[in-house]
Amino acid sequence: MKDSSKYVSVVISALLICLSAGFFSFSLSCSQPGEPMQEEMSASGEAPDVDANQTDSGQEAGNTVCPHQLFNIDVALGHIKELCVNIGCRPAGTEAEGRAAEYIKGVFSSIGYEKIYEQGFPLDNGLTSRNIYVLDEGSDPDQVIIIGAHYDTRGGTGSPGANDNGSGVATVLELARIFRVNDNVPTLLFVTFGSEEILAGYDRDCHHFGSRYLADHLAELKGNVIGMISVDMVAAGSYPVANSTLLCSRTLLDLFVAFAGAQGVFPTFIQDPGWSDHESFEARGISSFWAEYREDIYYHLPQDNYDNVNPVLLNRMGSLLQGFIESIDQADCQVLDSVSNYR
Ligand SMILES: [Zn+2]
Repeated sequence: MKDSSKYVSVVISALLICLSAGFFSFSLSCSQPGEPMQEEMSASGEAPDVDANQTDSGQEAGNTVCPHQLFNIDVALGHIKELCVNIGCRPAGTEAEGRAAEYIKGVFSSIGYEKIYEQGFPLDNGLTSRNIYVLDEGSDPDQVIIIGAHYDTRGGTGSPGANDNGSGVATVLELARIFRVNDNVPTLLFVTFGSEEILAGYDRDCHHFGSRYLADHLAELKGNVIGMISVDMVAAGSYPVANSTLLCSRTLLDLFVAFAGAQGVFPTFIQDPGWSDHESFEARGISSFWAEYREDIYYHLPQDNYDNVNPVLLNRMGSLLQGFIESIDQADCQVLDSVSNYR
């Protein structure tokens, strides 16, 4: 996949200029029929809202039904800025990680999720962390696909984690906004994980606390988890990658690669040893993959900052994941159900 086209660069540059100049007046988020409108959050440090009139279908926005939503790069960049500039480094269990969790809760609320789940868990260093998640019911509510990203940063590195993993969190938050309006067949569980990174000063196996905790408690969820996508480091590098540990079926990854190929995007398949949150679910028998770009030359360095985020890549992966999730139909769900066996 080529990094940029002149047209895309010009459009994104114009959008960024408009955003920085404050030309967008963010409005109320959309409500689905029968649901109350949610008022936007306006206090400092809270969620940016979006232009509810965004559409690619020419549908008119009614009083209660929103047009088809698209990935909004400006909103996604706003999330990264809040996480890595205003909050900064977010090591597991710290006050800063907690502030990031509160920000994420505010975003989920501002885009209309009335029920926001918090799942606390202990860390080996005696501190605690938490997962934050919401559910968007699909037309087949018994089938559940998890879309997740970690919001902590690696302690002791000075990295504010713009790409790792503000980019993934921003993507998950944008997809949660989009699919609250757009149709989807499987139920979607949008989660941001606490404590993915190896705890500073601890053993190399002291990581993935958040995703392992959720994966250990899937039986408590309503519905049947048939897949998981980890979005981690999607705004730096030069080529797209789809990773799997191959601890279980790679069906979901194959579906993604096929969908991407039809769009002219060809992710490299890498069998990784479990360097992101997909590992927790593949180890439990859930068909999963990790979407990312490589190589990030500022990985776990202080230069993994907002200035080094590539909006073209972020927009491309966010839009690709949106299209992929929208493409998952009943037949795909049945195949995923047959290969994902929770253990
Ligand atoms: Zn990461």
